[in-house]
Amino acid sequence: VLRARAVRKRFADTEVLRGIDLEVRSGEVLCVIGPSGSGKSTLLRCFNHLERIDAGRVWVDGELVGYEQHGTSGRVLRERREKEIRAQRERVGMVFQRFHLFPHRTAVQNVMEGPVVVKRRPRADAERRARELLDRVGLADRADHYPAQLSGGQQQRVAIARALAMDPTLMLFDEPTSALDPELVGEVLGVMQDLARSGMTMIVVTHEMGFAREVADRVVFMDEGLVVESGHPDELFTAPRHDRTRAFLSTVL
Ligand code: ATP
Ligand code: MG
Repeated sequence: VLRARAVRKRFADTEVLRGIDLEVRSGEVLCVIGPSGSGKSTLLRCFNHLERIDAGRVWVDGELVGYEQHGTSGRVLRERREKEIRAQRERVGMVFQRFHLFPHRTAVQNVMEGPVVVKRRPRADAERRARELLDRVGLADRADHYPAQLSGGQQQRVAIARALAMDPTLMLFDEPTSALDPELVGEVLGVMQDLARSGMTMIVVTHEMGFAREVADRVVFMDEGLVVESGHPDELFTAPRHDRTRAFLSTVL
């Protein structure tokens, strides 16, 4: 579903991603762990075109996207690229630490917004689907509430339903539970676990080592803009091969 090769990204004079290779197969759940500032969020943002990569290649669903800018001058080419990027972005759902719901729209209105505006789905269809998705994340009875009337965990579940409404082939999660009160973390992780079980392809940046251990097919440890090591959670958590991984795990486990 996703393949990244030698992805590099710099901000001013710091190189935040220094050559990332990554592959995610259909139905796979990949958890990305690593210290603060190691480039985890930046990597997800590159996969979703929220950032432009400086070098390297990213394929989503076999299509080359997010390639470097050399040789892409010319207005026609740029416009075509913009179109491709929009199409690509629709296939990649993203859930952030903060939920970013529209405050003046109800849960169901938030979920149906993308399909109606971007995909031009008829409102009635989009609403029916939005209610199904809210039911799936356990919020059928909160569909007509406004974000301010929902707990953080409920808002994050609405955000997950909203991303799913676009029928993504890949879901990216950037620390989806780290802004939540501890007692609300479980309900969001539960929804993510169900999603993983249903066969969704997911990349999850998380500090929840229990979740990574239980749900991930593969865990990737990043440090200073590089993938230090990756492996099955049983291997990586119990017998890390690198000192840096071991040192990081000793601080979080
Ligand atoms: P955390 O665990 O704290 O979320 P992270 O691994 O997600 O960290 P990133 O947010 O990807 O790390 O940031 C990596 C580095 O890039 C940091 O040093 C950060 O300051 C820098 N950085 C990120 N975004 C920008 C930006 N838009 N402009 C300049 N520097 C940035
Ligand atoms: Mg981050």
